[in-house]
Amino acid sequence: MNNDFMIEVSDLTKRYAGHTAVSGLSFTVGRGEIVGLLGPNGAGKSTTMRILSCYMPATSGTVRVAGMDVFTDADEVRRRIGYMPENNPLHPEMRVREYLKFRARLKGMARKHSRERVDVVTEQCGLTDVSKKIIGHLSKGYRQRVGLADALVHEPDLIILDEPTIGLDPNQIRSVRQLIKDLGRTHTVLISTHILPEVEMMCNRVLILHKGKIVVADSPDNLQKLMSGSSQIIAEIAAPQDELRACWEQFAEIEYYDLSPTEGEFHRCALTPRNGMDLRPQIFALARERGWILRELTRNRYSLEDIYVRVTHPDEEGEEG
Ligand code: ATP
Repeated sequence: MNNDFMIEVSDLTKRYAGHTAVSGLSFTVGRGEIVGLLGPNGAGKSTTMRILSCYMPATSGTVRVAGMDVFTDADEVRRRIGYMPENNPLHPEMRVREYLKFRARLKGMARKHSRERVDVVTEQCGLTDVSKKIIGHLSKGYRQRVGLADALVHEPDLIILDEPTIGLDPNQIRSVRQLIKDLGRTHTVLISTHILPEVEMMCNRVLILHKGKIVVADSPDNLQKLMSGSSQIIAEIAAPQDELRACWEQFAEIEYYDLSPTEGEFHRCALTPRNGMDLRPQIFALARERGWILRELTRNRYSLEDIYVRVTHPDEEGEEG
């Protein structure tokens, strides 16, 4: 057992009636990390989160939260986790404050303490103005906040959020995202999402899940560096095509090139440097030296989306079991 880890998952497998949703999954999440769980539909994100939150047993493998086993110490683990499931089932007929108090009591909190905590999370989640409203009358953004307040009310160390911004409009996404970011300062957070910029903005680390297995685990920055090993430089230059070809062929640092005419004398040159080198200064100097007009010189930086698409192959449909 390592005290620095909030989550330790080892060789986790979950089978549903013959279909394997999660297969031999192993990963750790350090205390204070904000980790994004990414993956196409059916990759096994919700299944993993449900097992971590003691909502469902695994078929095999071990999962520890704050050093405790989710199977043998489920009650203690539940106290440490604030879980917001996908399509959070709230009680639509209850008022916000009444619901949060009810949930706090259900989680075993004493009456006085639960009232104090409801006050804190109501304020923290921006629910003060709607605390007397009926949940069913709230917008989806506010209902998500109620779900978050519910997940936080018992002061968990670890927050697990399954697609918390799904179905929200851009303004609501922004405010819920900010709220999660703020929570990340004092909690460990595991969040699943389909919105890739969200992960780049909020997470220290990304786990990409594909067909029940982790295919990538790294920080968004490292992933970009990894991808820049195969980055591309685009140069749009006015010069005779044969001269351009001869030039790129002699350029030792360029591994591949592709030329296409654009307008007039201009050609679009897509250049792949060896080892992802940034050759823009050399290309600029070369164009000046030869008297060529250079009207564009850019370096393609790969995004998390490129990485995601590359590792999850979108042409393969997710398997439904
Ligand atoms: P999404 O992004 O669509 O929510 P996900 O990554 O969360 O997908 P899971 O919901 O964990 O994926 O599902 C993983 C696989 O397990 C899918 O093939 C799904 O059909 C299957 N599955 C999930 N829940 C059950 C269940 N209760 N019974 C049978 N199969 C299930």
